[in-house]
Amino acid sequence: MDLYEYQARDLFAAHDVPVLPGAVANNPDEARATAEKIGGQVVVKAQVKTGGRGKAGGVKLAQNADEAKEKAEAILGLDIKGHIVHRVLVAEASDIAEEYYFSFLLDRANRTFLAMASAEGGVEIEQLAVERPEALARVAVDPIAGVDKAKATEILTQGKFPAEVVDEAADVVVKLWEAFVSEDATLVEVNPLVRDPQDKIIALDGKVTLDENAGFRQPGHAELVDKQAEDPLEAKAKAKDLNYVKLEGQVGIIGNGAGLVMSTLDVVAYAGEKHGGMKPANFLDIGGGASAEVMAAGLDVILGDDDVKSVFVNVFGGITACDAVATGIVEALKILGDDATKPLVVRLDGNNVVEGRKILADANHPLVTLVDTMDNAADKAAELAAAGA
Ligand code: GDP
Ligand code: MN
Repeated sequence: MDLYEYQARDLFAAHDVPVLPGAVANNPDEARATAEKIGGQVVVKAQVKTGGRGKAGGVKLAQNADEAKEKAEAILGLDIKGHIVHRVLVAEASDIAEEYYFSFLLDRANRTFLAMASAEGGVEIEQLAVERPEALARVAVDPIAGVDKAKATEILTQGKFPAEVVDEAADVVVKLWEAFVSEDATLVEVNPLVRDPQDKIIALDGKVTLDENAGFRQPGHAELVDKQAEDPLEAKAKAKDLNYVKLEGQVGIIGNGAGLVMSTLDVVAYAGEKHGGMKPANFLDIGGGASAEVMAAGLDVILGDDDVKSVFVNVFGGITACDAVATGIVEALKILGDDATKPLVVRLDGNNVVEGRKILADANHPLVTLVDTMDNAADKAAELAAAGA
């Protein structure tokens, strides 16, 4: 989960990383009130989960509270790289002597953590990495050893931070590492990390990604989810512990196991070419336990997607045998009743397949078509989707 800048700022503050006083505002009047409280010059910043806000006109300085309101009016509603601005951060403005770059991230390729530092911050880091890679230090961080002041000093020295700021910046880096570890983050990025004219080091812009797999031990992270921006079906699936992903097509897909679901996507996309370009509308992995409740929850999510014109249920019976899955489908359709309105193509194979198919055949539900092979089932699902589209 990516955080908004104001959330990253709050998280930094909670870990004693120096940030400037500020608060998020939902409308121009709130922006004015916050600016009044801060007093003096403030910066008004678009809160969208994308970089380059400065260049897009999403970061503006204001001399006083009235001007902060005006700037907020100009920024709210902007479209920045496809993200509409619904909130702004109003923060005390900093005088900037120098802008640096610093980040910690999970380095998946090398199975370790990585620190990146550069005395040439402020600019887009991707651009710096391409144009002047020698200016961006990359230092591996051993997850057990972590980052103490000596390590932080080493990283900053490699990043060519001026000698006179290394000591203070190293203290900030150690705190950023503490935040990174204790919040189960996979990215903590500060760009710019600035030196003000009094030589104070301040995190002026923060980008944080939290590891959702650590949610079970980070109860506080749940409230950082942006409910407004969240897809309601994804939220519903998440609440029921289902792995659901929205796509662009017309055929809803339910399967058990990531491998089977992935190959089902390919087979449906291929079959769909013969039926006017039908494609997978989404996919949902019901995992190992395809009980009636799980199947009902899964169908409920998939059928709730207006783009779905047909559903392909592709299950390979393993520990949960086909008869249990078939019973699950029959019971799920009973639970859903009139809410089930779209045709279902079911392909069952594996453990207890004969019993499973018999259960579905006996139930003889008008919406269900039973097909023996994956290819034929995909073809049927695409055909039904095309008919309903
Ligand atoms: P981004 O463009 O989305 O990365 O947004 P940033 O928060 O990094 O802001 C972009 C640029 O605006 C920074 O690199 C600074 O040069 C400038 N900026 C941001 N906040 C302040 C501030 O408080 N004072 C001044 N003078 N400039 C600021
Ligand atoms: Mn930035």
